This record gives sequence, structure tokens and C-alpha cells, in this order.
Amino acid sequence: MRAGPDHIREFPEATARFSLVMLPYLAYMARKRQKANDLGPAAPSGCKDDRMPLLPESLAMKDDVASWRRHLHAQPELLYDVHQTAEFVADKLRQFGCDEVVTGIGRTGVVGLIRGRPGSNGPTIGLRADMDALPVTETSGVAWASRTAGRMHACGHDGHTAMLLGAASQLAQSRNFNGSVAVIFQPAEEGGAGGREMVRDGMMERFGIASVYGMHNLPGLPVGDFAIRKGPIMAATDEFILTIRGRSGHAAMPHNTIDPIVAGSAIVAGLQMIAARNADPLESVVVSVTKFNAGFAHNVIPDEAKLAGTVRSLTTAMRDFAERRLGEIVRGIAAAHGAEVDVRYIRNYPVTFNHADETVVAADAAASVAGDDHVERETAPMMGGEDFSYMLESRPGAFIFIGNGDSSGLHSSSYDFNDDAIPHGVSYWVKLAESVLPL
Ligand SMILES: [Zn+2]
Ligand SMILES: [Zn+2]
Repeated sequence: MRAGPDHIREFPEATARFSLVMLPYLAYMARKRQKANDLGPAAPSGCKDDRMPLLPESLAMKDDVASWRRHLHAQPELLYDVHQTAEFVADKLRQFGCDEVVTGIGRTGVVGLIRGRPGSNGPTIGLRADMDALPVTETSGVAWASRTAGRMHACGHDGHTAMLLGAASQLAQSRNFNGSVAVIFQPAEEGGAGGREMVRDGMMERFGIASVYGMHNLPGLPVGDFAIRKGPIMAATDEFILTIRGRSGHAAMPHNTIDPIVAGSAIVAGLQMIAARNADPLESVVVSVTKFNAGFAHNVIPDEAKLAGTVRSLTTAMRDFAERRLGEIVRGIAAAHGAEVDVRYIRNYPVTFNHADETVVAADAAASVAGDDHVERETAPMMGGEDFSYMLESRPGAFIFIGNGDSSGLHSSSYDFNDDAIPHGVSYWVKLAESVLPL
């Protein structure tokens, strides 16, 4: 069954969550594939090197969407504390005439439901944006810069939210689809697992969502371009905290101590073995030690050293392997130094895993907006993480990147979302909904 050998192999626990709503959806996707095969190969576009024309409605609303985006940019909110943003979103969705607007899902998430043409009997799809900002002080110097020191939309979630609002407005107006569209606005993407919280709150069942799609801007990718791939597109993001306990003493008499700094240094070097010597070189894994705190005086060997860091992987097998090797290496080296060690390994976001059929649908929708030459269908996966992964564990779907042009990098204090991407993103959402749910 298409539900997915890949998906199930990666996430066996997810199979239990496939509710009855999935069966009609799977049959529907099979019929859609058959229909596409019957039509034969797509005709040549005739404008191979040119971008496709954007939806006129998306172009016309660019200034409105940009003004919402800049409004959100100026008042960034963190994690689940996105009350003003959620209120702004819910107000807009009500103005657009969404059939249902539900707030407080996954604490502060918002979902708007838009039903298609009267008599629609197609499935419901979810389109997701994130609303939260980062604890960064903005240095961009733009007129709409954050008004709050220590908070900033440095990942472009202001742009994601505004673009999905633009699409909701168009979809509520046109109703040019057979089924329903749930526009999902989640809190706490930046480390708070707001996506998981919305899934746990029963969002998928409540709205009968059969498949889900996400989008993130990408600095360095030209505006108007898209990038996607089947399978893992972003990494699992795990965290470790090591407490090494030795025996303190005089720095001039190290033989009477157990030096946790020397043990810790050996551990930092030893952990490089996981990626460099233990893992298959054709697989991906990152192990980075990012904190090393110990000591307080130049002539005292301390009792304790604390290390922390992150492990990134693209498959469950590699994730399990890296966790096991990390424990073995850390305990082995600590023992060789006569030190004790406490290992805390925390599994954060899972792998963001794009399902095969939905990836093709998403890439085709992007190509209908951008032109084939502007959609990279086999982009390299990234070792950053995304909590849209939890929604993809719960339902089939796909996550796509949209170009942010030559901007500062994500999470940089000088970053700004590129408003020129707005008509491309809005058109993508609308085309996607219309192609997954054709009349
Ligand atoms: Zn981010
Ligand atoms: Zn982000």
C-alpha cells in the first residue's frame, strides 16, 4: 500500500496513528495516479527557460501580504507565547470567510477550514505555516524591524504566516477545488515542538486531514525557485549533555587528581570517531560538541566538567547508531581516565521525511508556478531540523523550500524575509490545493 513502505520503515510507531480517514485518501491518490498515467506524458511547456506567469490574484495582493508580513515582523513573539500573532491570523481568516476558524489548538495554534465548491466530496488537505520568532536582537536596520530587543523574526516565519494568509484569502474567494483545505498556523517551531503539540491535540482527526504540506524560505536559493526531495529533507536533531566527575586538587600535583578537563578533551576528540570512522561514509551524521564548561582558577584542577552538543542524522538507523556509539565512547574514555560520567541524550525533532507521491505532487505544483527549470527536485537534504516532521509522521505529505534570494542566513541578526517571494509562495499554495483537490 502506498502509505508507505518508506514511511513505515522509518517510523513504525506512526502506523498506529493512521486512522480510517486515510483509506479513502489512499484510494483517491491511486485514482489520481491512474488518471495521470492515462493522460500520458506531459506536453512540452514551450517556455522551458522562462518562469511561468504567476497567478494574477497573487501578484495583485503582494502589497497587502507584504504589509501583513511587516506588521508581524515588527512584533515578534516566542515559542507558544504567540497570542498577538494568533489573534491577527484568526481575525484575518474570519474576514476572508473561512468556514471554521479554531484557535487554541496545541496551546496557541490556529486552524482555518475552507470548504471547496458546494457538493465537494474530496479529502481535506493541510497547509502549514509557523508563527514564532527567535530570541535574537535584530540588526537588519529595516523600517519594519522588531520593536522588542531580544526577539526577532530571523527565520522568516513572518513571511510563511503572511503567505499562507494570502493563499487562504484566495482559496476562500475562489473555492476552486473539490474537498477542503485546512490552513494550519503553528506556534513554537523554534525548539518547542509546537507541531507535535497540534498533532497531539487531535488536529488531524478533528479536521479529517488526509495529507499535509509545509514550506520554508531558503536564503541563497533565487527568488521564484523551489527545492524539494523525496525521503529525508531535514535531519533529526538530538541533544546531549555530559557531566564528567573527577577529583579536584592542586594543578601542580595532577597525579593526586582525576582531571575532568583532560577527560573531557579526550571525549571531544573521541566523539569525532562517530562520523569519521564508525559511520558509513555514504551516510550522513553530524556530532558537534558546542559547550565545554569547567574550572575557575589557573592553579586548581576542578571536580567537574560539563559538555553539551548536538547529533544530526537523516535516518532512524543512523540516529540509533549515533546514540549508541556516543554512549559507548563517552563511558569508555571516562573510565580510561578514572572519571565518572553522566550521559543525558535527548531526542528532539525527528527526521523530516517527504513521502514519495506527495513530493511529486508538490514539485509539480511548484513547477506550474515557477517553470520546470526553477524546481530542484533532488535537492540535497539539510542537517537542520523542522518540527513539521511530527505532522509528516502523522500524515503523508511534503515539505518544500522557496527561494529567499541573496539574503542573510536564517537565524542571523541581519536576516529579513524577502517580500518578492510572496507572489511565488502564495501561487504555490493555491496551485497545490487545486492540483491535489481537482474539480
Ligand atoms: Zn529557524
Ligand atoms: Zn524556520
